[in-house]
This record gives sequence, C-alpha cells and structure tokens, in this order.
Amino acid sequence: MSEFNIAMMPGDGIGPEILSQAKRVVDRIAKLYKHTFHYKTVYIGGCSIDKFGEPLTEKTIKAVLSSDALLFSSVGGEKWDDLPQNKRPEAGLLGIRKAIEGYANLRPVKIFPTMKSFSTLKDDVINGIDMIIVRELVSGIYFGEPKGVVTLPNGIRKGFNTMSYKDYEIERIAKIAFDLAGNRKKKVVSVDKANVLDVSTLWREVVDEVHKNYQDIELTHMYVDNAAMQIVRNPSQFDVILAGNIFGDILSDEASMATGSLGMLPSAAIGGDVGMFEPVHGSAPDIAGLNIANPIAQILSSAMMFRYGLNLHKEADSIEKAVESTLNDGYRTRDIFKIGNKKVGTSQMGDAILERIECE
Ligand code: NAD
Repeated sequence: MSEFNIAMMPGDGIGPEILSQAKRVVDRIAKLYKHTFHYKTVYIGGCSIDKFGEPLTEKTIKAVLSSDALLFSSVGGEKWDDLPQNKRPEAGLLGIRKAIEGYANLRPVKIFPTMKSFSTLKDDVINGIDMIIVRELVSGIYFGEPKGVVTLPNGIRKGFNTMSYKDYEIERIAKIAFDLAGNRKKKVVSVDKANVLDVSTLWREVVDEVHKNYQDIELTHMYVDNAAMQIVRNPSQFDVILAGNIFGDILSDEASMATGSLGMLPSAAIGGDVGMFEPVHGSAPDIAGLNIANPIAQILSSAMMFRYGLNLHKEADSIEKAVESTLNDGYRTRDIFKIGNKKVGTSQMGDAILERIECE
C-alpha cells in the first residue's frame, strides 16, 4: 500500500474525454491494490490560454514538480492556431517537458495479436513485435549550437545545425536503456552513424563503457540506416533500441506504424524528478466531444506511469492485460473497428477495460 500525488493534465480536444477514462482505471487500481492517489488537475495548452492568457503558468509548473508523476493528455486546436509560436498551446507542452527535465523518451512498440490486420506489414513480419525505443530527448541536433541560416559573402544562403553530445548525456540515457533491458529480454541495440559522424564515435565509446557494468545484457551497435531497414524487415529481433534525439525520433515513428493505430500508442518522458506519461497522438479536434475517441493510448500511458514512474509493475500488468482482453473480446472504437467487432464509444471502451482489471 502506497500514497502518491498524481498531476493530471487533460488539456484540449479529446484530452478531457480520454483522460477521464484513464482516471477511472487509475482509481480502480487504487482500490484493488489499496493505494491512495491524490490528484491535482491542472490547466495546460488552449484551456490555460482561455483561463489565464498563457499556455503554461508558473503555478501549474509548481503543481507538477511537487507531484510523483504527471499523466498528460494532449493540447492544441484551431481556435489557437493563429497565435504566435510561443503563445500557442504547443508552447505549453514544450514548457512542461523542459520543466520536468525528462531526458529519456520511452516508446513501447507492441502488437496485440487481435490487431495484426491494422499493421501495414505482413503477418509473418509483425509476429512477436515487442520492443521499446529509448530516445534521448533534450540534446543532440535539435538543441546543438551553433545553428541558423546565414547568407555568405558570395550570396549563397547556408542553413546549419550542430549534432553534439556530452559524455554524461550519453551515459545517463544508456543506463536507462540497460536497466530497462534487464527487466525484459536483455538485449540492447544502440543506434548511431559512427561510420561518418564523430559525435557517433563518442556515442559508441560511452555506450561501451556503460555496458561494462551490465555484462548480462547483450549489446549490439547498429548504423541508423540499417536499423531503419531492420525495423521493417524483421522487427521482432529488437528488444530495447537506444538512440539519440533525431535518430530516435525517426525510428520511433517508423516502428509505431507496425502497430497500425495512433490511438493505441503510449509514451513516457523519464529521467527527471517527475515522469510524464502521455499518448503519442494529438488532441484530435476533429472528433472532440463526440465520445468516439480511442482512450487506449491514454489508458496504456497510465500503465506506463505505474511501471516507469511509480515502480508498480503488477499494477501496470493489470492494466495492460485488461486492455488486451478487451481487444480480444472484440471491443473497438471507430478508429480500429472492422466488421464483426463490437463498436463502442470512448466511455464504453473505458467500461469494458474497467470490467477486466484484476489483481495480478
Ligand atoms: P492528431 O494526433 O490529433 O490527429 C491525427 C488523426 O488521428 C486525426 O484524424 C484524429 O482524429 C486521429 N486520432 C488521434 N488520436 C485519436 C484517438 N485517440 N482516437 C481516435 N482517433 C484519433 O494530430 P493532428 O490532427 O495533426 O493535430 C491536432 C492538434 O493536436 C494540433 O493542434 C496539434 O498541434 C496537436 N498535437 C498535440 C500533441 C500533443 O499534445 N502531444 C501531439 C501532436 C499534435
């Protein structure tokens, strides 16, 4: 029995609908496992702009930083699209990510057997996919200096960014990847481009150094172009993929398509004081308020919160098994519906999952 403070950010669009289903799931877990959760629901994005004139307030940041975990939904919508970049809802999302300093982005890619037909890959290729991509999130080419666009004296315009990593940044993300692998199939593939990039040479060196403390984990280095090819050729060979910011960004989107549906994919940002857990998809304003959004990505984000944020693995297993058995029983929201399934709305999908949650 434990006690935790959980910050909840419903945000915009379908956010409030799907987060309320995840909250029901978290409540059920509290009851089953006799935990106490104190919730703080805080504003972010468009709803924060409407209420306070800015997408993220200091008060909100404080509330999150004094919590044990943040369950985030999504932000954004047409209503705020004409605001300047730094005033838009998405600026709130970047702001909270920065505030929690989660440098490790975790993206699990697992295919539920009943959902195989949604994959763009062939049946025999997707069999057994169960990997997690660990992407470095706060450094690399998206943040490196110098960067910019300049006009040279000869009139030619030049755009440039810098891909740089410091050894400690590689070390801490590599530790996360090896730790994760220790609880899984004990295999890490570290992705780089060490045949041409100096920064990748350092990446490889540091990963090897960290690996010395994880001798039970099998480590393979793979060039990013080969990794991109292997993910569609034979994805089930992967357990944990460790990658820098830009390589991880591209590979995680590629790998996620193997599972076929955006409404099913959770993610996490960990490493800082407070872990942040959120669906991969956005606020889907086109279907907001219609009770047709798929709450599964959000509900699986709550499972990630238990596993990676609160270290409660049985609780995470309970949620993941309930989702799987709901899908096995044929329940589908519109985005994953095929003839022969039971079509349900957002809240009915929540009901079906709740009914199937059991203690491990
Ligand atoms: P989106 O992910 O919101 O939607 C893309 C498509 O997928 C839409 O057709 C939508 O209806 C569908 N979809 C998404 N989630 C679904 C779910 N759970 N169930 C069923 N269908 C689902 O991406 P977009 O349309 O490019 O962006 C919409 C808004 O969301 C924009 O304002 C964008 O800036 C914002 N956005 C926010 C985040 C975030 O908060 N993390 C991420 C991406 C986009």
